[in-house]
Amino acid sequence: MSKHEFQTEVTQLLDLMIHSLYSNKEIFLRELISNASDALDKLNYLSISDDKYKDLKYESKIQITTDKEAKTLTISDTGIGMSKDDLVKNLGTIAKSGTKSFVEKLSGDAKKDSSLIGQFGVGFYAAFMVASKVEVQSKKATAKSAHSWISEGGGEYEIKESNKEEHGTSITLYLKEDEVEFLESFRIQSIIEKYSNHIPFPIFLEKEEKTEDDKTEISNDQINKASALWRVNKTEIKPEEYNDFYKSLSHDSEDPTLYIHTKAEGKIEYSTLFYIPKTAPMDMFRVDYQSGIKLYVKRVFITDDDKELLPTYLRFVRGIIDVEDLPLNVSRELLQQNVILSSVKKASVKKVLSELKKLKNKDFEAYKKFYSVFGRVLKEGIMGEFENRDLLLDLLLFKSSSRDELIDLEQYKEAMGEDQKEIYYITGESANMLKNSPLIEGFNEKGIEVLILDEEVDSIVIPNIGQYKEIPLVAANSANVGDSDTDTKALDEKFAEILVKMKEELKDEVKDVKISTRLKKSPACLVYDKEDPDFAMQQMLKQMGQGDLPPVKPILEINADHEIFTKIEDKKDFVALNNVSHILLDLAKLSEGMKLEDGADFADRVNKLLTGSL
Ligand code: ADP
Repeated sequence: MSKHEFQTEVTQLLDLMIHSLYSNKEIFLRELISNASDALDKLNYLSISDDKYKDLKYESKIQITTDKEAKTLTISDTGIGMSKDDLVKNLGTIAKSGTKSFVEKLSGDAKKDSSLIGQFGVGFYAAFMVASKVEVQSKKATAKSAHSWISEGGGEYEIKESNKEEHGTSITLYLKEDEVEFLESFRIQSIIEKYSNHIPFPIFLEKEEKTEDDKTEISNDQINKASALWRVNKTEIKPEEYNDFYKSLSHDSEDPTLYIHTKAEGKIEYSTLFYIPKTAPMDMFRVDYQSGIKLYVKRVFITDDDKELLPTYLRFVRGIIDVEDLPLNVSRELLQQNVILSSVKKASVKKVLSELKKLKNKDFEAYKKFYSVFGRVLKEGIMGEFENRDLLLDLLLFKSSSRDELIDLEQYKEAMGEDQKEIYYITGESANMLKNSPLIEGFNEKGIEVLILDEEVDSIVIPNIGQYKEIPLVAANSANVGDSDTDTKALDEKFAEILVKMKEELKDEVKDVKISTRLKKSPACLVYDKEDPDFAMQQMLKQMGQGDLPPVKPILEINADHEIFTKIEDKKDFVALNNVSHILLDLAKLSEGMKLEDGADFADRVNKLLTGSL
């Protein structure tokens, strides 16, 4: 016998489980059955793909027994099983990425934290919500020895040898006094019918029944349908069944936003069942995120670890792809080159995107909720999705300079005036700052709408859109935008001296100083040449570790109608101009959300100006 300590995060998690006030304790059974089903999937795959397992004789099933005297409930499977090392690794630590951040979110207040449990999907550890002691006996398929893992949920667990004969895992829960309801067969049966009816393996429940002459008889019947839900005809499935299956698949406690079920019987035969969750998986923005898609071939599980089954920008989708026409022994490594699979993928992407579009048209409120959680990920698709580009573009939502609600590109297009030939957008850190930016004063005055983009990815992703239904998308801060046809020759001449002086004064910081056609109120603003990355983009590149690029100089545009310039011009007093030039440049930077490199210099100049004006 050996004693082991749990990883700290596990101890914290267990502590929460034990004191949990989570109202939905019955889900522990769903979690354990779902693990058993995964273990059977894994072994079945090995038995068709690995010679070492070819001669193994076993029946794929899950068995549930109870002992009313001992107050125990046991869940057994004939799956892959666990070695001693597996027990230590799988049941003593949490390897899943995102766990640390989850545990950090826990406050130690069981009441508050119980809603988090459901979101996270604690799997095996849910057993401690109803059990004061748990014993796991396991024998790995083809191994000689078996081991037993025992814990009362404190900081430690024990491992000793076991005499379990058949391969697989048996989990015995010593139920807490007030959880003995889970010994009743009708209770167990109803939980299983609810959550585990459609896992693809039979679940047997041993029941004690009194006969007429008062003898006890033991029956052992299959209590679930064991029909893989994704293979059942759509017309025979109720919405609750779809939702409950989702929960057993994803460990999520909430219903999904959408389920998308397809049974294709054309050239390629396959079934897919996809779900769009309500909340984001913990690891959505981690490089080592887990795929949410399980691949089956003719109902036999092949892998849940292939991130290529759907494009990365759909990595929040959970579900199943089951293909008929693949050889069972298809190698996991070769999946990506498989022609059949890539056409299933193609069709699946189109299907998911069009269902999202339907949701958007049918229930915009629900779509907005979806978009607030997954919009950022969806946008990544713009960089690589060419085939369904229009479909994807139609799913994007934007803030607008002239409306309070979110709009899509189609709505923007519909509101365009007849002579407007381009779609304008502005990117930066805060929507508020962008809406008040000098850069869009001219647009506002002319009643031209500008898309407001305030997410980090926007500055990289949005310029990639290029055009929407043949209308080019143009950054509002690129030089020559808007009234570029307006002739500024007369003004250029009138203010020639000012322009020359300012250019000379600011030559280290700006490419050029020009008369603006876009400014209405503010005296000056910064714009960028079309080929140059703007400030938001430069920031983004810096964050991506490309900070060594030479800084790109902006162009300073000035408002010739502004009193600052008309007064200087009238008085022909150019002495103040060198000070004013720097202040205007700094103010333009600030209104773009940039930081000043030399705040003290700015303060000095403003103070000088103030003193002079008193
Ligand atoms: P998850 O199932 O989400 O990975 P769990 O905490 O439920 O998390 O389980 C941790 C690991 O323990 C599983 O990934 C699996 O490797 C192993 N495991 C749990 N139950 C079983 C079982 N019945 N048979 C074999 N392995 C199991």
